[in-house]
Amino acid sequence: MNDVFPPPPEGEGSRLTHAIAAYLGLAIGDALGATVEFMTPREIAAQFKVHDQLIGGGWLKLKPGQVTDDTTMALALGGSILEAGQVDAHAAARAFDAWMRARPVDIGSTVRRGLLAFRKTGDPKMPSSEHDAGNGAAMRVLPVALATLGLPEADARAACRAQAHVTHNNRLSDAATETLALMVRDALLGADKLDLLHHRAHPLVRDHPEFAFRAVRQRLNPSGYIVETLQAVFQAFFDTDSFEDCLIDVVNRGGDADTTGAIAGMLAGAVYGPTAMPKRWLHGLDAATRHACETQARQLLEIGARKSA
Ligand code: MN
Ligand code: MN
Repeated sequence: MNDVFPPPPEGEGSRLTHAIAAYLGLAIGDALGATVEFMTPREIAAQFKVHDQLIGGGWLKLKPGQVTDDTTMALALGGSILEAGQVDAHAAARAFDAWMRARPVDIGSTVRRGLLAFRKTGDPKMPSSEHDAGNGAAMRVLPVALATLGLPEADARAACRAQAHVTHNNRLSDAATETLALMVRDALLGADKLDLLHHRAHPLVRDHPEFAFRAVRQRLNPSGYIVETLQAVFQAFFDTDSFEDCLIDVVNRGGDADTTGAIAGMLAGAVYGPTAMPKRWLHGLDAATRHACETQARQLLEIGARKSA
């Protein structure tokens, strides 16, 4: 147990605590993974044996518990949804642009390119591209999952694409981004891990065989390519039974570890809920970030509930 959340009740209450856990999981995974981003599993093992503490550092020289673009872009997107009252591509693009102007600690090349194009054209939709299959749209999708909780699946998918296409307009990025958001929605509505495997992960692989995550024996050192990112996340998520084991598994693979950590933390938080989160990680997370995640989760869920009425 931890002292951050009230005891987990059933129904509406547990939906809220699991939504908060998903948002905190995203941030914790980001902060944990950033320490070992771009390292190989061998380098990580040599330096840490097992990396499992929020100690900052890494190539970005972070403070302990500090997050990166994965979390701060999600918060920027969430802010735009709260302001507009719904997911809106223009509002999202403006929020991302303001986020970029504020000099984030890191920024992906596809994100930068998309936002520079938006500044020029005012169009919040990039042309579709076979090459823009990075994980930058998927890593920030959580607020869409929360704000669309009461909407039909097709509307939720459209909202995912609207925010994604500001920077990434790509079929594999779309498929992954939509799948992740729907997995979070399902988990908040009571689905367990096996449900998510059968109803979301398997259909994704059926429709887009690139994502097959059992065929690759070990997805060690996943890159920022959305396929490798999701393969690593799914292996870690489906092969472990706790929030802590899932995150330790995925970040110790190195590579784009802050982003695999963020995505895995979001899924594991949504499924396992708040009581599964190690105290040392909850308390180690940057305090302002933790507060922002908790507040947004609450407010976005209110929008999600309103839509269903
Ligand atoms: Mn990052
Ligand atoms: Mn990353």
